[in-house]
Amino acid sequence: MNIPAKMRAAVLYDWNDFRLTEVDVPQPADSEVLIKVESCSICGGDVKIITRGMLHQPPMGEFIIGHEYAGIVVKLGPSVDEFELGDRVTVEVHKGCGRCKNCLDGKATACLNYGNVAKGHRANGFTTNGGFADYAVNHVTTVNKIPDNISFDEATIITTAGTSLFGIERAGGFVAGENIAILGPGSIGLMAVQCAKALGAANVMLTGTRDERLELGRSLGADNTINVKNEDPVKKIMALTGGDGADLVLVTSGSEAAFNQALKAVRKGGSITLLAHFDDPVTVDVGLAVQKMNNIYTIRGEGRQCTHRSLEMMAEGKIQAKPLLTHAFPLEELREGFDVFMERRDGAIKVVIHP
Ligand SMILES: [Zn+2]
Ligand SMILES: [Zn+2]
Repeated sequence: MNIPAKMRAAVLYDWNDFRLTEVDVPQPADSEVLIKVESCSICGGDVKIITRGMLHQPPMGEFIIGHEYAGIVVKLGPSVDEFELGDRVTVEVHKGCGRCKNCLDGKATACLNYGNVAKGHRANGFTTNGGFADYAVNHVTTVNKIPDNISFDEATIITTAGTSLFGIERAGGFVAGENIAILGPGSIGLMAVQCAKALGAANVMLTGTRDERLELGRSLGADNTINVKNEDPVKKIMALTGGDGADLVLVTSGSEAAFNQALKAVRKGGSITLLAHFDDPVTVDVGLAVQKMNNIYTIRGEGRQCTHRSLEMMAEGKIQAKPLLTHAFPLEELREGFDVFMERRDGAIKVVIHP
């Protein structure tokens, strides 16, 4: 394959200031592949990274942003036999160090050596270079082959879908026929709706503040939608579950209100998973959870093998990415892409960038 020495990459220079810069094409080391990026999606995490930063972020002027990408394998590092040149692949973010207690325990997204590249940890687009670029290097453990019937754009949603699935899995899953409340119709919430239905949930209840998002949630399988501006979500969820409350509540909105609603709307003995990033400390009535003997779980990212399983679910048509893909821009218009995403212009949900 003809690989140039230089490439274009979106490098972060200052807060909210990234520029398309010419840099060296990275080379795959042992157990790594070089991917020619075909599509990279903008995520809420990217907004945080460019506006405020995250732990262990590389220095300004060096850091290539973007973490939800898909493309073609164009070069193999030493020892790689899991992939072939030309393979269509998508990536997930977290490559654990592989040597800490959590990695050995299958919890690589909570790696104890998070951010420590020397010890083998990578989180492309967070702590190491990412995919708003012509090429990116990934460890084989973060690369998934894309089934033929899934496009590169759709495949960029796999980290999102994997996060939704991981939120369900961390709570120990649920039994088919149970009722699931999903608080927040963002990308993770909308994928969670689909995962919950695909796994046999009886009544999926989605809450939010914007009717068009709730409408989309309904078209993706939500049985009931609740606009919290017009209705009390707790009362509604209790009414929809015969007064018992939801068996599992997935909190995909990082708000104090949503967490408190979850504590009130979960049934006695039921579970809550927090999938959202909470930017600020919140005050919640945790005594309710004690009284009702609830389980509260948290997740970080796309955990375990949830991206692999989401890809299979997508290939079988059980979950869909297309309805979330609202906008696309070339790499030169990444700024415009971010503005559209951040302002939620024209109903923007997922904005994909094509190098
Ligand atoms: Zn993301
Ligand atoms: Zn680790």
